[in-house]
Amino acid sequence: MNLIIFGAPGSGKGTQSEQLIQRYGLHHISTGDLLRSHIANGTELGKVANVFISKGNLIPDELMLDILENELDLHPEVKGVIFDGFPRTIPQAEALNKILEKRGTKIHAVIGLEVPEAELTDRLIKRGAISGRSDDNAETIAKRLEVYHRQTAPLKEFYTSRGSYHAIKGSGSVDEIFASITQVVDRIE
Ligand code: AMP
Repeated sequence: MNLIIFGAPGSGKGTQSEQLIQRYGLHHISTGDLLRSHIANGTELGKVANVFISKGNLIPDELMLDILENELDLHPEVKGVIFDGFPRTIPQAEALNKILEKRGTKIHAVIGLEVPEAELTDRLIKRGAISGRSDDNAETIAKRLEVYHRQTAPLKEFYTSRGSYHAIKGSGSVDEIFASITQVVDRIE
C-alpha cells in the first residue's frame, strides 16, 4: 500500500507520518528531510537545494524526481511507502504515477490534511522557534504558503478526479486527526 500525505506546510504531515509508519509498517519518504540531510552533509546536491529551500521556492522537478527514484531504488524490499512532501507539482504527480507503474504498483490513497490558513502560519512560526529550520521564519513562511497555493494545491483536484483524494480535518489533537486518517486507510487495506 502506497500513501501520499498531502497538505500545506504546517498541516502536520510529518507528525502524522510518524504514526502511520508504525501502524502500517510503511517506509517513510520525506523529500524535505532528504534535502535537509544533503544540506547538513554539505553535498553538491545540498548546496544547490539550499538556494531554493532558503527562499521558500520548490527545487526543480527534474532534480526532485532523480532524488526520489534513487531513494526508491535504495529500498526495493519495502512493502509500501508513505510519500510526505512529494509530489508538490502536477508534473511530479504524473511522473510518480509512471514510476510506480513501472514497479507494478500505484498510489492507493492521498490523505489531505486540511487546516485553516491562520492556523498554518501560527504553527509554522511556533515550530520556527524550536526547529532551527532556515525556512521557518515569517518571510519564508509566507512565500512557502504562496508557493503551496500556486503550485501544489492543484494536486487536490488532480487526485480527486482520479478518486484517490480523502479530505481529513487537520485541526484538533494529533490523536483525533490520526483516528480520522486510520478510518480512511483501514478501508483501503
Ligand atoms: P518540507 O520539509 O516538505 O516542508 O520541504 C522543505 C523544502 O524542501 C520545500 O519548501 C522545498 O523547497 C523543498 N522540497 C521538499 N519537497 C519538495 C518537492 N517534492 N519538490 C520541490 N521541492 C521540495
